[in-house]
Amino acid sequence: MSLMIHNNLTNRKEEFVPIEPGKVKMYVCGVTVYDDIHMGHARSIIVFDVVNRYLRYLGYDVTFVTNFTDVDDKIINRANERGIEALDLSAEYIKKYFEDIEKLGVRRADIYPQASTSMPYIIDMVKEIVDRGYGYPTKDGSVYFRVKKIPDYGILSNRSIEEMRSSGRLEPNEDKEDPMDFAVWKGAKPGEVSWDSPWGKGRPGWHIECSAMIRHYLGDEIDIHGGGNDLIFPHHENEILQTEACTGSHLAHYWMHNGMLETKGSDGKTVKMSKSLKNFFKVDDVAKKFDKYTIRFYYLNTHYSSPLAYGEENMLEAQAALKRLWNNYRDLQACARDGPSGSPDNAAQAICKAREGFTSSMDDDFNTRAAIESLFDLARTTNKMLADKTITKEGAETVLGFLDEIDDVLGIFPEKEKDDGSFADVMGILVDLRKELRKRKQYDLADMIRDRLSEAGYAIEDSADGAKWKKI
Ligand SMILES: [Zn+2]
Repeated sequence: MSLMIHNNLTNRKEEFVPIEPGKVKMYVCGVTVYDDIHMGHARSIIVFDVVNRYLRYLGYDVTFVTNFTDVDDKIINRANERGIEALDLSAEYIKKYFEDIEKLGVRRADIYPQASTSMPYIIDMVKEIVDRGYGYPTKDGSVYFRVKKIPDYGILSNRSIEEMRSSGRLEPNEDKEDPMDFAVWKGAKPGEVSWDSPWGKGRPGWHIECSAMIRHYLGDEIDIHGGGNDLIFPHHENEILQTEACTGSHLAHYWMHNGMLETKGSDGKTVKMSKSLKNFFKVDDVAKKFDKYTIRFYYLNTHYSSPLAYGEENMLEAQAALKRLWNNYRDLQACARDGPSGSPDNAAQAICKAREGFTSSMDDDFNTRAAIESLFDLARTTNKMLADKTITKEGAETVLGFLDEIDDVLGIFPEKEKDDGSFADVMGILVDLRKELRKRKQYDLADMIRDRLSEAGYAIEDSADGAKWKKI
């Protein structure tokens, strides 16, 4: 089966065919940097981290771009409150963003453009929009986009002009030809951060930065455009209009949107986690309680497009479920170290089934939930083999190799301790020492070794074939 993606542009699941064979150009809308990122942002970041990883796993040469909106009303207001420059505030939160995504085990995108450093391309695009008759300047030095000049407005959100008109999200302004029109350039107000332009001092509207950055870094048309589903209207609709005005294309062939993270409000109703509703949990705080593998597992154990409930109980459930996979992983590690030698055939057969389950699930619109289910199936099979003692050292090694391979996509298993084998040698000495002490009936010392190792995160288990150790 080939990779299928649910495309919001056509509202269908479609086979993924890149513009250029073997290459993928992907853009995901990033964050507005005026505060720490919260768990709602983290969902989009992790979803597209996995999309990026899986495309690379399939062998695509991916160029992944995600932006920072560092020029915006919220940033200007927050900087004014703190009495600092807007760009100093955004620089502080860009630095913090990278620290936070590290706590999520996220691999960095290839390029992180910022609005403030993309001004020449943004101004060029606004000029082109005006030159082609899709934009018009107003007396305050702003430039607006003539929405009705492009007939397929609403193509992504499946809304009619009338529905969008009544959405209540229009900026009122008497200088606009039509209330639907939106700003691609905003004339500067006194004291605001601004740049010189053919329309006087000003700054870009929010939507134009993505269209301009995509065009500059990736070209007129890209393969995948992603973001949260709260961005479909108006942000992504407007990105399409701006690009369509200049290039005639719908900007991206595949539009993917992740579902929202929801929390229960004080009235018991579930609502979207957002800054404005003040019902958010910062990644920084959650990462103090839960490791990055658990946080990733929590998100990936639900399909990316479904809504997802957030609460500490959901994280604890994720932790308990992931622990089952880790226990199996560690038992396999112990078997790969101390198990009997022999044919790995039965393990190889189990992997074959798991690999098929993993790839067919991931190929089906990046269904990480089903992919994880195939890992639980494999764990059940290998746990039974471990209990029946039918898995060999070589078999366990093969299973671990498979899990490491697919973890390159999911990132839910702890990184292996960097070890050249000397750690296992030292552990072997401690296990032998304990055995010797027990033989001499010095149980207090033998127990001390077992207890101290347990505190350090390693269990010694006695069995008929002698004592074995594993990471807890
Ligand atoms: Zn965007």
